[in-house]
Amino acid sequence: MKCERFLSVSILAVFLLMGFVYYTTVFIFIEDWVGLQSSAGSLNALIFTFLVSLCLFSFFVCVLTDPGPVPASYIPDVEESGVADEERRKNSIQSRHCDKCSTYKPPRAHHCRVCRRCVLRMDHHCIWINNCVGYRNYKAFFTLVLYATLGSIYSTVMIVTCALRKDWAFNETASLKIFFVTSAVMMAALSLTLGTLLGWHIYLIIHNMTTIEYYEGIRAAWLARKSGQSYWHPYNLGAYKNITSVLGPNILKWLCPTAMSHLKDGLIFPTRRENS
Ligand SMILES: [Zn+2]
Ligand SMILES: [Zn+2]
Repeated sequence: MKCERFLSVSILAVFLLMGFVYYTTVFIFIEDWVGLQSSAGSLNALIFTFLVSLCLFSFFVCVLTDPGPVPASYIPDVEESGVADEERRKNSIQSRHCDKCSTYKPPRAHHCRVCRRCVLRMDHHCIWINNCVGYRNYKAFFTLVLYATLGSIYSTVMIVTCALRKDWAFNETASLKIFFVTSAVMMAALSLTLGTLLGWHIYLIIHNMTTIEYYEGIRAAWLARKSGQSYWHPYNLGAYKNITSVLGPNILKWLCPTAMSHLKDGLIFPTRRENS
């Protein structure tokens, strides 16, 4: 059952954090700043609620979507491997065999030790969604990070705005000051962490790379340099094509985590060589 994925300490921690940030931002900081009854207060509460809802929706899609199972019947295409020499062709196919699953791995698939199975276009295993990030839920993962970053920044701005407009000289206790400072520092740190993660995944999407491929690429580039050659990431088809292969061809649906009709079987990916 997919719902069993919710039975984890890290998922509970995410729910608690989201609930805490939502409650304090709306019912303490916005309320204290202008009051929820005012038009400015209700508008800010509405925008923040919308952001948190999108974040929660992406989170559910990430947890509940199967990241990409490898079909048991999958056999690598011998011709497609592009290796002419018989011995090297055998080795190339052998290297794509997963001994733990007893199946072949399609290009870009990897074995996840936590999930104990191979995952298509695997990016990494994420403990915060208690699931792998792979071919079918990568877009939802990206929108989750995006909405979580925007929500954190929004919350930080609300706390700082509220603190700046408060008359601190008048009747405010030391514990309230500590609460404001702690909240502001915590939310600024969260915004920075999520913002960095968002920047990293924007970089990966633009280059059509997974986190695993980025690290594999560093080694491949080093080996190529040693033999006087240059290394190119084979799936990099140019920024726009790379973005549409992950987020879809319709720009209006780029930020919708469930708009995944552009995804195919995840077994074949166009490469630079085929496109040139
Ligand atoms: Zn495997
Ligand atoms: Zn996994």
